[in-house]
Amino acid sequence: MNDDFPDYFHEGDLVGVLTAQPLDRVLDYKAPEGGCHQGAFVEVPLGPRKVLGVVWGKGKGDWDIAKVRSVIRVLDVAPMAEEMRQFLTRAADYTLTPMSAMLRLATRAPGLGDAPSMRKVYRLGSVEPDRMTDARRKVLDVLRDYGGLSFTLKEVAEMAGVTSSVVKGLVKLGAVSEEESPRDLPYPRLDPDYGGKELTEDQEGGAKVLREAVRSGAYGTTLLKGVTGSGKTEVYLEAVAECLRVGRQALVLLPEIALTSEFITRVEARFGMKPAEWHSGVTMTERRRCWKMVGQGEAQLVVGARSALFLPFRDLGLVIVDEEHDTSYKQEDGVLYNARDMTVLRASLNSAQVVLASATPSLESWANVEAGKYARVTLTSRYGAAVLPEMSAIDMRVEDLPASRWVSPTLQAKVQLRLERGEQSLLFLNRRGYAPVTICRACGHQIGCDDCDATMVEHRFQKRLMCHQCGETKPIPAVCPSCEAEDKLAPVGPGVERMAEEAKALFPDAKVAVLSSDLYGSARALKEHIESIARGEADVIVGTQLVAKGHNFPKLTLVGVIDADLGLQGSDLRAAERTFQLMRQVAGRAGRAEAPGEAVLQTFQPEHPVIGAILGGDEEAFWAAEAGERRAAGVPPYGRMAGIVLSSTDVQEVFDLGTAMARNDAPLRKIGAQVFGPAPAPIARIRGRHRVRLLVKADKTAPLQQALAAWAGQFKLRGELRMAIDIDPQSFY
Ligand code: ADP
Ligand code: ZN
Repeated sequence: MNDDFPDYFHEGDLVGVLTAQPLDRVLDYKAPEGGCHQGAFVEVPLGPRKVLGVVWGKGKGDWDIAKVRSVIRVLDVAPMAEEMRQFLTRAADYTLTPMSAMLRLATRAPGLGDAPSMRKVYRLGSVEPDRMTDARRKVLDVLRDYGGLSFTLKEVAEMAGVTSSVVKGLVKLGAVSEEESPRDLPYPRLDPDYGGKELTEDQEGGAKVLREAVRSGAYGTTLLKGVTGSGKTEVYLEAVAECLRVGRQALVLLPEIALTSEFITRVEARFGMKPAEWHSGVTMTERRRCWKMVGQGEAQLVVGARSALFLPFRDLGLVIVDEEHDTSYKQEDGVLYNARDMTVLRASLNSAQVVLASATPSLESWANVEAGKYARVTLTSRYGAAVLPEMSAIDMRVEDLPASRWVSPTLQAKVQLRLERGEQSLLFLNRRGYAPVTICRACGHQIGCDDCDATMVEHRFQKRLMCHQCGETKPIPAVCPSCEAEDKLAPVGPGVERMAEEAKALFPDAKVAVLSSDLYGSARALKEHIESIARGEADVIVGTQLVAKGHNFPKLTLVGVIDADLGLQGSDLRAAERTFQLMRQVAGRAGRAEAPGEAVLQTFQPEHPVIGAILGGDEEAFWAAEAGERRAAGVPPYGRMAGIVLSSTDVQEVFDLGTAMARNDAPLRKIGAQVFGPAPAPIARIRGRHRVRLLVKADKTAPLQQALAAWAGQFKLRGELRMAIDIDPQSFY
């Protein structure tokens, strides 16, 4: 320990403590009795409260020494490593976030200051009960199967399928032993050689590159690219295995919680035991255990959502960012950070390896490979007999279909064929709910959200209208709120729920299933539904982009994209890239097992270059063309950008500040950066707050953050005004 933390403070020494309170300065305290190390987690008095903090370094001594208070106590958790302190500092500089907010992100586990709590655990005892019952035998068999391992009462009862009183009875007889054990247990050891698959030549080549990279003990980033089903997961699990062998910790980031349970099962099959999990679906107790064990080096592998990157790893050797192009890696509120980019930063500070896995990498990563900053491993074919689906467009301009119908006769015939063959079809539409707009046929009024500039989306399943901006819902009104006409409100346009209705009408004998994240009460219900679909308990699946994210549907042989033009609209600079990725991901769902697949795109603009690139399958050409356009425009990844959103309940106030900021742009001009705006944000009002947007563009090498800080620092935010600065914005709302 002492070598890790050379800076040790004796009792009474002045130390600077960073707290998670929004003060944004390191405060002086006196080291407690027994002293403390740099990096120690401590409890300090702040006004009348006791708060959590980290010993950041020597105190500044710029405070009346008589008034400096003492650290209350050092917490019983591993101190923050030097690497982590550097990472938080650099990430704060990059995202222009106060350090206190970074520390909050790094301590998001409850009860870190609590004394280690104990609980009762049970294991096989030494005596045989004189009277054996069926229930008792089940308990003893289960415990015998697990050798010397111990479990909680609930776990034993569940595994044996008996009531807990049976277990208690055995404890009395001495057949089961009851012990006290710390609640936060280390995770079971993973075995890197437990269940490896035999890799194909292609896969083995990739695995070898990644294993060597891990063994190098140096920083490096590799883009692992391969079509869906090519075995990327199998290959990167080999890198994880190597990381376990060299005794360092590994982290796998996944974009979607709904995917974790399928993935955990795979990890267990590969390494014999379950890894630690970190995401919003994990209980508070388990979160604290994960945080503490990661800090003590007693969790070898963590599988989690983006915030797992801020866990206090002792020795992080490898991070996998699966589906690295996924937009959910960008946190869009609170601290605005991109977990993919922050992963690269953390790894570079810690001599760790990064693997970015995707079938459709982001242009950012593609450009970094081109520039020689990242290595690249490509898997060229699908595993086994599976081949990529054949892709074609359906030209909607020549299809004959009635209004309020969205499945063309051509697509309908293709689905019919699958039904006859006993195969599955997917109708893909990236829009939740029943209909995106509800309009009054008498006066033309569109029902909008009271607090946002957005139309309310009808969710017929929940019998309510919902705002997809703020989540507000209201019942579907009986009369038009504007003209009070009765029975005139009509849905316009399709959502997945409406598509399901159409599918049921077109294919009355088929089993139709809807897959949309909002239709399930819990992650478990969703997972069960996905599994039943995968087993073949649906003939036609109607789904949103949820289905694009890595689930396996072996019987699926047809993907029909209802509206391929949907993503091409809008002013987002990544619109083409997103559409390209999403369409290819969805198409990749078809024909994963033995039956070859087919993907069709319904479009009104079959000659659009993006549609052409998707159909042609010439990815490199698409990326080269897209890169060319962005380079010419000087936008990311060939230029730098920041979005500034000002908001307030007072519309005049936001515009005044926006105008003042645009005028006083000297700090930006100094680095050659340009300001655009102020303009109303694309969604000009959210939750009752008016929003104004400015965009800043700069050269790739310009010191953008410093200039932004100097610029924004000129303005005082009074009252209701809020300012959010988003470096490398991903969404433009
Ligand atoms: P990706 O991550 O590229 O989508 P996966 O790693 O999930 O691909 O592989 C797709 C399917 O093929 C999985 O069910 C996986 O277990 C199987 N698979 C891939 N490679 C092998 C292999 N070498 N041996 C056995 N099964 C494999
Ligand atoms: Zn709203």
